[in-house]
Amino acid sequence: MLLPSNIKNKRNSLSVVIPVYNEEKVLEVLHQELIKVLESLNMEYEVIYVDDGSTDSSYLILKKFAHENRRVKVIKLARNFGQQAAVSCGLDYSKNDGVIIMDADLQDSPNLIKDFVSYWQKGYDIVYHIRKKRLGEPFWKVLGMKIFYFLLTRFSNINIPPNVGLFRLVDRKVISILKNLQEEKKFLPGLFAYVGFSQIGIESERPERKGGKSKSFFKLASLAIDGLINFTTLPVRLIQLSSLFFIILTFILFILFLINKKGIVLIFTLSSFFLSILFIALSIVGEYLLRIHFELKRRPQYIIEEIHNI
Ligand code: UDP
Ligand code: MG
Repeated sequence: MLLPSNIKNKRNSLSVVIPVYNEEKVLEVLHQELIKVLESLNMEYEVIYVDDGSTDSSYLILKKFAHENRRVKVIKLARNFGQQAAVSCGLDYSKNDGVIIMDADLQDSPNLIKDFVSYWQKGYDIVYHIRKKRLGEPFWKVLGMKIFYFLLTRFSNINIPPNVGLFRLVDRKVISILKNLQEEKKFLPGLFAYVGFSQIGIESERPERKGGKSKSFFKLASLAIDGLINFTTLPVRLIQLSSLFFIILTFILFILFLINKKGIVLIFTLSSFFLSILFIALSIVGEYLLRIHFELKRRPQYIIEEIHNI
């Protein structure tokens, strides 16, 4: 059973987790802006930079930050594991009551942290950022995202808000639940929606990247596949839909054969018949695999938010 660990529910210290992959061009500006905002909050804070196998001078710059300021922590991963893994690592090492997750490239503006904190202190457990417009994003990315979110929301039973990335403040009690989830490949936007708790989104524009390079098409595609496989039954449903298609086709062809009695139509009818049997078999196997797949994740059957008088 999973119970949140932060029972006392204090809300007066912050951790900021930032995954960094080849961001040497933006780190100085980001760090300066971030520390300025954090200092102005008058809260206990720590910043955790997770270097995700950068090949430029990012790690050296981060070490310098850590050297200058004891509240800055740097973790270097042994190679590039991807944004989700880098963030998960930062979350595992974060200690404070609330955790901010943000990108290094200044697309997630540090100035929003103040708003996040004020909603959090009003009682929300997750405060996330909704992107109003995707400024400067290439067409393929906007279209790809649209299709991805359509499939994700249509074919999963949790409500994953569209146009929401990872930029958010998450309360310790949610982080403790997330840490206890056993699944290997954590698709965080999905998991944050999955855990529940009281959530609120703040909408604003998302500026362009301030330097460096954005994730490649392949990285994004693999992220999208992780999301769909981990949270939807879509691939197997497609196979099942195909069997339905072939069953209907068989019937139509058979009727056609009864009308005109041509040998060629009979051949097509039989082919379609055997294909439908094949797809039915695949659908059954797929259904078993789906169950094993989700069972293996060992997601809890339920998550408790609070208990009284027990
Ligand atoms: N990032 C990472 N590992 C990767 C790719 C990206 O840690 O393999 C970091 C990157 O440094 C940035 C964040 O994840 O802080 C978001 O990356 P990006 O800006 O490429 O994503 P986008 O804004 O295009 O979603
Ligand atoms: Mg970016």
